[in-house]
Amino acid sequence: MSRQESNPATALPLGIAVRGGPDAELTRRAHPEPPHPYRSPFARDAARILHARAFRRLAGKTQVFTRLRVDPPSDHFRSRLTHTLEVTQIARTLAVALGLNAELTEALALAHDIGHPPFGHAGEKALDHALQAHDLRFDHNLHALRIVTWFEERYAAFRGLNLTLGVREGIVKHSRDYSAATHPELSEFYLDRFPPLEAQLIDMADEIAYLTADLDDGLGSGILNLEQVRDGVPLFRGFHDAVFREFPAAAPKLAVNEAINRVLNALVTNLLNEIQVQVAALGATTLNEIRLAPQRLAALSPPMEAARATVKEFLYANLYNSSGMEEGHNRAAEVVEGLFAALIADPSLLPADHLAQVPAEGLARTVADYIAGMTDSYIEQLWARCGR
Ligand code: MG
Repeated sequence: MSRQESNPATALPLGIAVRGGPDAELTRRAHPEPPHPYRSPFARDAARILHARAFRRLAGKTQVFTRLRVDPPSDHFRSRLTHTLEVTQIARTLAVALGLNAELTEALALAHDIGHPPFGHAGEKALDHALQAHDLRFDHNLHALRIVTWFEERYAAFRGLNLTLGVREGIVKHSRDYSAATHPELSEFYLDRFPPLEAQLIDMADEIAYLTADLDDGLGSGILNLEQVRDGVPLFRGFHDAVFREFPAAAPKLAVNEAINRVLNALVTNLLNEIQVQVAALGATTLNEIRLAPQRLAALSPPMEAARATVKEFLYANLYNSSGMEEGHNRAAEVVEGLFAALIADPSLLPADHLAQVPAEGLARTVADYIAGMTDSYIEQLWARCGR
């Protein structure tokens, strides 16, 4: 993505974008490689992630809905792969409009959920719970880093994908900050500073993508109904009303789709504008000033932030933690924690490559690594075979 393609009216000062040339600091790789004749280092990283095995498995991992358990059945729900592609679209749009490094942004968006275990957040919670009994935790950002630096095996010269420093930093820090005191192993990732805007964008693009998609899928599943969404989400209601003023004869489903599209567009546009406002207020013209700013600069305006928080609270109360989701969550906990216990009790059930990790990583971490990589259907099959 060249700078020329960005819109000069919305672009931030040039020095704020991460430099992507082969000599730039953030394109450094752990194992030096000669530059590619026509692809930039970050474009290569995006391609390496896209071609990774862990990326393909996102197709078989739940985002929110475990699709087989909905009555009537539906196969329109987002998987973690289609969610990832939606995040990539939003993040790339923002990066291009802001004149940021769109190739770095794309690589980070593609990788942002690569560390997620099966069964969505219920699976992650169950795996974390199982690990806590061994004084360990499961963190999907840190797991994503382990995937790209170790578990992917595609190259003869090194293990992992040998991604650039900028992509590895963004994978770790896009959604939270880690302190050097508790995570000395992450010291190369500028822990005393914020990540570049390209990485900060990912967390917001993720929120915007899943909040709007979950309204859509929640309505599609029948767990949410339209009146409930209109009552609980004023941002949606405003656009839904506007659609009917413009198209009085609109079919109900099309009016919902239009309203959700407008919610998405409003959130993205607000974020774009607010980043420009924040950067201008700071007077920043360089990446270093973004890194040393008093807070992360990729944020919504205060009124839109309040509207976003309302959508999120609504979805937690009425969808994520609703009784309609309980069966799926309980099943996730049963399968993940059950298989974890079975593998701890009999490590010989581990495949040879994972078993070889036990001396270095310990049994509990090795079992968690194995489970985290599984798709929903793979873990179900394994549980049926060896779990009970
Ligand atoms: Mg996500």
